[in-house]
Amino acid sequence: MRSFRSPRYFCVFLSMTVAATMCAAHAAAPVPVKEAKVHVLIYHTFLGREKIPTDFSIDQFREQMLILKKNGFTFVSYADVAQGRVSGDRNIMISIDDGNQTVYRAYHDVLKPLHIRPLLAIYPNIIGKRKYALTWEQLRELAADGCDIAAHGFFHLHVNDKLYATNRRAFHDEIFKSKRVLEEKLNRKITVFAYPSGEKSEKAEQMIREAGYSYAFTINWGVLRVPLSENSNPYLLPRYMIEKQNWKSVFARLDGKSLKKVNGNGRKTIVRR
Ligand SMILES: [Zn+2]
Repeated sequence: MRSFRSPRYFCVFLSMTVAATMCAAHAAAPVPVKEAKVHVLIYHTFLGREKIPTDFSIDQFREQMLILKKNGFTFVSYADVAQGRVSGDRNIMISIDDGNQTVYRAYHDVLKPLHIRPLLAIYPNIIGKRKYALTWEQLRELAADGCDIAAHGFFHLHVNDKLYATNRRAFHDEIFKSKRVLEEKLNRKITVFAYPSGEKSEKAEQMIREAGYSYAFTINWGVLRVPLSENSNPYLLPRYMIEKQNWKSVFARLDGKSLKKVNGNGRKTIVRR
């Protein structure tokens, strides 16, 4: 049997040690942070009702997700965004506001099969109370399955200067109580807020910070930058509200050009801006 001390084995050992040292040195070298871009879309309900501007059928919603996928967008979750696990500039994050009952089906029929994890912005007052809303059990299941949860006020009141001046208690509850109830019911930390109806104010920003939220989303159009520290204000992060009237033009805007549409017959047509 050859000894480890034999010249040949020593050589192998030495080169392995040198290689390992070089690898360690390489791993320790600082990796330059490359800023990534994410487009955050807001959906609401999936009832298939003609007259509600922000409502889509399940099939329409699926078609929209497939169009984005077909056009080379990558779907990222809020957790990916918050932890900086995003690269490039063709990323989409789906958020769904309010907690309508149809979110459950939209997740299981459309999002989950496409491996899309949405951010659900919830106002707790309706959960388990209204027929049109999710139950706590459903919400717990969605959260356990990887959906991220944001507070969206408690009663969905507008946290603007008027509410602050007229009902300080209600203003406080929209920000503090929504967080506390979601944390108790879902047994998880809630660190992100979405302004009900996009109404915001300096007082709200200040209170959101005091309550311990890390970030807040508006409905102002714009590109979200990752790492999130690259955005000018962590409590004024941008999102695009998706409606029947605007989804094609918003998608074209995200793409910077015309989008390819997915047809049932497999042919592609162009969605004009
Ligand atoms: Zn809302």
